[in-house]
Amino acid sequence: MENVLELKKFLAIPRDIVLTTHRNPDGDAVGSSLGLYHFLTGEGHAVHMCVPSEYPTFLSWMPGIDQMVVYDTDPERTQELIERAQVIFALDYNALDRIDKMGELIGDSRAKKVMIDHHLYPEDFAEYELSETNASSTCELIYDFIEMMGMERSITPLVGDCLFTGILTDTGSFKYSTSPKLFRIVANLLELGVDDVKIQGLVFNCLEEKNLRLLGHCLANRMEILPEFRTGIISLTKEDYEQFDIKRGDTEGIVNFLLKLKGVTVAAFIHEQPKITKISLRSKGDFSVQEIASKYFKGGGHLNASGGASFTSLASTIRKFKSILPEYQELLTGEKNKIKSDN
Ligand code: 5GP
Ligand code: MN
Repeated sequence: MENVLELKKFLAIPRDIVLTTHRNPDGDAVGSSLGLYHFLTGEGHAVHMCVPSEYPTFLSWMPGIDQMVVYDTDPERTQELIERAQVIFALDYNALDRIDKMGELIGDSRAKKVMIDHHLYPEDFAEYELSETNASSTCELIYDFIEMMGMERSITPLVGDCLFTGILTDTGSFKYSTSPKLFRIVANLLELGVDDVKIQGLVFNCLEEKNLRLLGHCLANRMEILPEFRTGIISLTKEDYEQFDIKRGDTEGIVNFLLKLKGVTVAAFIHEQPKITKISLRSKGDFSVQEIASKYFKGGGHLNASGGASFTSLASTIRKFKSILPEYQELLTGEKNKIKSDN
């Protein structure tokens, strides 16, 4: 962000600020929103957070999360806040269609727009852009942003807790997208007083019994392995959702279990939602699931973690996914990929 000092100057007096993040917000979306919320509030700004849909319950312990205004349940309030904002931050997304109707409101707004994000292929809608596709998480970039403004001394333990949470979830507990720089940032956060063990416990060891039973069901009854394409699929029906009382966030992380298999390079989690069939894709090594998500499922994301949707049934979405695998067979089973993704 070359023009960060110009933004710093604008933020030198209290402003009306709206922070936005993507639909079905995950730990990084919520962590970056809350981290920046606490930071900017501490600097004297009037800050509001807007999100298209409800946050998952496994994050409900996060301080300030109840302040998030959800478009799905409160569209008028969301509209009012966006319309009166002087600065709008786009966090953990890089295309306005990722936030549905809220995207149209932001497109119409004359507020200064600031994008902080780490997804591939950013759209050009923000005059201030911190878009780093190599970053582990948007939370890592919030830390960088605060540092670029020369204000890292104002990072409180509360801000640190939020940023640590997003780093933790987006790296799968430091398994993906790590770097020496990330560990330095995390070391700084721990020095501030962030309790990493406590947060790991809150995020990962607070499941309900039904979550483990659901995982067992997925692995025992809903998993299909296609060794010839080094691909694994887990799918869930509407009936599964009812039987296991699945709520938002309950399926988070299930797709990653497929990657534990030595012979799997691509993992797909395909599940029926009320109006659409959603697909979550993960990969190992340099195989891009972003390409599959954007080319075939109107989605996108990162090289190794992407998502999208189809507007047909679960069965036909699974068929469609399987039908595109031959196109990638050479890439998936070639010697080069085999060696890389097995490591
Ligand atoms: P998940 O599979 O956990 O929902 O998402 C994995 C990654 O893909 C996240 O970074 C998320 O932002 C991105 N993603 C998920 N669904 C979509 C989608 O429908 N469109 C786009 N552009 N990205 C998505
Ligand atoms: Mn993220």
